[in-house]
Amino acid sequence: MRLVLLGPPGAGKGTQAALLSEKLNVPHISTGDLFRANIGEGTPLGIEAKQYMDAGELVPTEVTARMVESRLQEPDAAEGFLLDGFPRTVEQAQILAGLLENSGHALDGVLNFRVDEDVVVERMLARGRADDNEETIRTRLRVYRDETAPLIDHYGDAIINIEAEGEVEEINARVLKALGK
Ligand code: ADP
Repeated sequence: MRLVLLGPPGAGKGTQAALLSEKLNVPHISTGDLFRANIGEGTPLGIEAKQYMDAGELVPTEVTARMVESRLQEPDAAEGFLLDGFPRTVEQAQILAGLLENSGHALDGVLNFRVDEDVVVERMLARGRADDNEETIRTRLRVYRDETAPLIDHYGDAIINIEAEGEVEEINARVLKALGK
C-alpha cells in the first residue's frame, strides 16, 4: 500500500506509522526522522536542515523533495510505503504526484489524523524533543495551519479521516478498520 500520513505536529503519526509498517509490511518513511538521522551524522543535508527545524520552519522543498525521491527509489519502497511528514505543502504534493506518475503508481489513500490543538501541544511538551519548546511548537502549528492543512482539500476524496485522540492501540485499530484490514 502507498499511503500518506497527514496531521498536525504531535498527532502521533510516527507512532501509528511504526505499528502500521509492521502490519502492512511496507517501510515507514519519515522526513523528520531522515533529517534527524542526517543531523546525527553531521551530513551537509543535516547541517542545512537543522537551522530550519530548530526554528520550527519548513526545510526548503527542493532539499526535502530530493531526499524523498532518493528514499522512494530504494528497493524496500518498491511495493509500498507510509510517507510521514511529506508532503507538507501543496507544492510538495505536486512533486510527489509527479514522482508517482513517473513510476506508474498511485496513492491508495491519505490518512488524516485529527487531534485537537490543545492535545498536540500537551503531547509535544511531554515528548521533549529538541524542537519541542513552546515557541517552536507555536511556529510549527502556524506552518501546519497555513501550509499543510490545505492538503486536506487538495486530496479530497482520497482523505481517510482518523480520530487520533485516545490510546495508541485504539487508534491503530481505527486505522486498520478504515483501511479494511
Ligand atoms: P512533527 O510531526 O512533530 O512535525 P517531524 O519529525 O515530522 O515532526 O518534522 C520535524 C521538522 O522537520 C519540521 O518542523 C520541519 O522543520 C522538518 N520537516 C519534516 N518534513 C518536512 C517537509 N516535508 N518539508 C519541509 N520540512 C520538513
